[in-house]
Amino acid sequence: MEQQATDAITNPESDSVPSDRETFAALLRSVVPDLSDEQVAQLMRYRDLLHARNQVVNLTAVRDFDGIERRLILESLRLHAHMAELAAPGARVMDLGSGGGIPGVILAIAFPDRTFSLLDATGKKVAFLRDCIDELALANAGAVHGRAEELAHQFEWRSAFDVVTARAVTSLSALLELGLPFIRQKGWMLLPKGADIDEELRIGRKAAGKLGGTITEASFLPQVGSLVDTRLVLVRKDAPTPGSFPRRAGLPARSPLGTDQDRPDKRVRRGKSKQP
Ligand code: SAH
Repeated sequence: MEQQATDAITNPESDSVPSDRETFAALLRSVVPDLSDEQVAQLMRYRDLLHARNQVVNLTAVRDFDGIERRLILESLRLHAHMAELAAPGARVMDLGSGGGIPGVILAIAFPDRTFSLLDATGKKVAFLRDCIDELALANAGAVHGRAEELAHQFEWRSAFDVVTARAVTSLSALLELGLPFIRQKGWMLLPKGADIDEELRIGRKAAGKLGGTITEASFLPQVGSLVDTRLVLVRKDAPTPGSFPRRAGLPARSPLGTDQDRPDKRVRRGKSKQP
């Protein structure tokens, strides 16, 4: 394991040298063999844009080239086979809490025939996503500034997506509450998670039951030149999500469904004083 770890990743504190085009292409194609030269070029440009903007705006804790190439880009491409299976050509995909575009921008490059809405609550991240979309000429992607708790109650967003992805956003229970309302029936959530999620899964199964979802699997992704063990949680929407979900901003994460903190949203919006 230790040997594997040193092989897979250089010291994350030091800023490593970016791979040249040929090495980068070989790395990407070890996971997705049929990426075109144009897609490789777009992913390389994205790597450089993310690295540069991350010096001035905090987009991701992964700051060095090696980490961006392997832990962000390669990790996102590991979702390729599941995406291809669960999101048919023409499908609408939302990346919830996309941040610097992970995995949303990477998947939008890899799947030009699916459309992507990249949602984030932080303005400076959405500004970066818009710059990426322009620079990479991503005709199939749009960035949306807002909170899932609010957007998911709007008619044009509710039940409007075939697939929702989310990486490193919040607990599984909160993700289900935020994400399932956006999905049409028989649509899917694809949620990459760490290895140690048994407790999250136990709570998540209870939450899923209240939201019309079913966690169908949480298998480890095959190890490909990557340090971290990733389990991909797959959730199918089997029934409509009750209109009371998601609860108001912050509650899904603070009072997760399926735990003993779980409580209904009793707030009457009118007449409440603003929190400091
Ligand atoms: N997916 C990216 C970003 C993770 S950081 C990555 O893997 O690097 C989590 C992001 O989720 C932040 O950018 C935050 O602004 C966003 N976020 C958290 N809660 C949200 C919500 N309720 N609605 C929309 N975005 C949210």
